[in-house]
Amino acid sequence: MADKFLIIGGGIAGLMTGIALQQAGFSVEIFEQAVEVKRVGAGITVAPNGMAALEKLGLAEQVKAMGNVSSKGIAIVDEAGKPITKLADEKLAFPIYAIHRADLQAILLGSLEVGTLKLGRKCSNLTQDDSGIVLKMEDGSEISGDYAIVADGIHSVARDSIFGKQPLRYAGYTCWRGIAKTWPKDADQKLFTETWGTKGRIGIVPLANQETYWFAVAAASENSIVHQTYELSHLVRRFESYHKPIQEVLEATNPDKIISGDIFDLEPMKNFAKGRVVLIGDAAHAMTPNLGQGGSQAMEDAIILRNWLKKKR
Ligand SMILES: Cc1cc2nc3c(=O)[nH]c(=O)nc-3n(C[C@H](O)[C@H](O)[C@H](O)COP(=O)(O)OP(=O)(O)OC[C@H]3O[C@@H](n4cnc5c(N)ncnc54)[C@H](O)[C@@H]3O)c2cc1C
Repeated sequence: MADKFLIIGGGIAGLMTGIALQQAGFSVEIFEQAVEVKRVGAGITVAPNGMAALEKLGLAEQVKAMGNVSSKGIAIVDEAGKPITKLADEKLAFPIYAIHRADLQAILLGSLEVGTLKLGRKCSNLTQDDSGIVLKMEDGSEISGDYAIVADGIHSVARDSIFGKQPLRYAGYTCWRGIAKTWPKDADQKLFTETWGTKGRIGIVPLANQETYWFAVAAASENSIVHQTYELSHLVRRFESYHKPIQEVLEATNPDKIISGDIFDLEPMKNFAKGRVVLIGDAAHAMTPNLGQGGSQAMEDAIILRNWLKKKR
């Protein structure tokens, strides 16, 4: 009988790997704790390495069609909007795309065989021996397989079951993200910007369909109550001295849909594999979002793992 690969976590890493392994003819099931697929999340930029991975699975065209391309590059500017530096797209193999996370998720879900993703299945422990692996689920059930692919994110329970508790590092700043229902007036939709100033950093990333993804970052102590209770009006005031169209974008955001949280990364691990278990995505190498690489490296993991498994078959 074919080896059975059980993937824990249905985020970018888990879904991409599920697709990659299915396309290569492996038997895969994905266990995701969320009970339903909802249109949540903000935007995400997909870097050239992520686009290359998507292309290998035949998905890059869908991301291009549903996303927006930074054909004018990514500009780092100061509070007044004056250029500090620019990431030049012409030097990259692919330009950087931006897409609503829900649209990326829909593309990935649509590429999996029906029934692969099991919702409402939270893994609370993972064990292995010479004959296989066992997922212990929160509802008390157990699921056996041949190999486990751990993709349950930075706080991975499955990883810690096998590798021991892994330390996270607080990055020293907190972050807010949102989607504005507008494209800023008089701004170039093909230029993504990040503004650096004394009140913090703020990124403006036009998406498709007249929406704009923004993120704001401020230095803060971990779990700062002041910042946890921030509302949109606080952000509008905080960045009021920053250049146009930052105010316009913030004000066009539904205040109830803002996502916020302190930023952590994972202390680098020496190994991503042990016995029948392999870590991918944020469970393996969660990083700070400054380079917009976490999701793209999760996509790369899927291709690298698939290629390695194909060679070993
Ligand atoms: C503010 C911010 C901005 C970012 N911007 C970008 C960007 O622009 N570009 C980019 O490439 N990256 C970006 N990243 C990083 C990117 O979001 C992550 O690297 C990426 O989402 C990792 O995907 P993943 O599938 O490994 O983990 P996750 O996205 O965390 O997915 C893990 C999945 O596992 C599920 N899960 C968790 N625990 C269990 C369990 N016990 N049992 C079953 N299921 C479980 C979760 O519900 C989730 O669906 C950003 C990150 C942050 C914080």
